[in-house]
Amino acid sequence: MNTNEGSLLRGSICENQFRLFAADTTAIVQFLRDTHDLYPLPSIMMGRVFTAAALMSGELKAPNSEIAIRVDAEGALKGGIAIATKEGNLRGYAFEPQLWLEDPKENLLVGKNLGKGTLTVIKQSGLKSPYQGNIALVDGEIASDLANYYMQSEQTPSLINLGVLIDPNAKIRAAGGILIQELPNADLKISCQIQANLAKTPNVSDLMDMGLSLTDILNKFLLKDLDWEISKTSPLALSCDCSKERFAGGLRLLGVEELSQLQDGIEPVCHYCNKSYSFSGEEISELIRSLKP
Ligand SMILES: [Zn+2]
Repeated sequence: MNTNEGSLLRGSICENQFRLFAADTTAIVQFLRDTHDLYPLPSIMMGRVFTAAALMSGELKAPNSEIAIRVDAEGALKGGIAIATKEGNLRGYAFEPQLWLEDPKENLLVGKNLGKGTLTVIKQSGLKSPYQGNIALVDGEIASDLANYYMQSEQTPSLINLGVLIDPNAKIRAAGGILIQELPNADLKISCQIQANLAKTPNVSDLMDMGLSLTDILNKFLLKDLDWEISKTSPLALSCDCSKERFAGGLRLLGVEELSQLQDGIEPVCHYCNKSYSFSGEEISELIRSLKP
């Protein structure tokens, strides 16, 4: 398996009364941690936000469409952004990647260190103008915030379990999540049963760390004794679509006056993948020439 690869499962429960998405993002969160040198608390938060974006990308239909989740908070952890494309490519970054709190126990508490804030979901589908939904954080643990987003903004009752398990050496032992969405024809009794199962299910990353696959977790815990099926499994990967041309486009937007201040050259760095692009003084002059009529 590629070192930067995960998987997304899509399925249905009880003959399409519920939609099911499940993701294994262990390798992706590890790669994200290594690329951005994320400390434990930002790793756990970003792992959850990335997994949530991966799960939500399962509902995208148009080619090149993408979904972004952005968390903005007042606490020391501040938040972060994750974007997932329909094709399963993920990118994003934490706003406070090297946050370390003195009390070791604090470095596991995502919600407490995000504090008050908002969760924003932006869906971009083809040429249509983007859809945006925004809610106040419920507890900042991301799973309950996302469930609240679905309820408030899309009127879709959703059950979510997100988990990131990290060891003291910053190794991601397991990361993953499950999203179950109730459809309008859902039987209330089955819905209550899945809710009760969710309440009794340990964190998905703890179960994965014990060697259980996502299918095992669904069979033994969340969807025990229920009729369900997986209709599609597709890969997930951490991947950025940045390029020198794209950065050149961004530089052109600065205009002649600002570009003239950069005649010594500039080395912008991509927030998403940390790749740097070098523009020499000569290349800046070329950009200025291309802007002059
Ligand atoms: Zn990039």
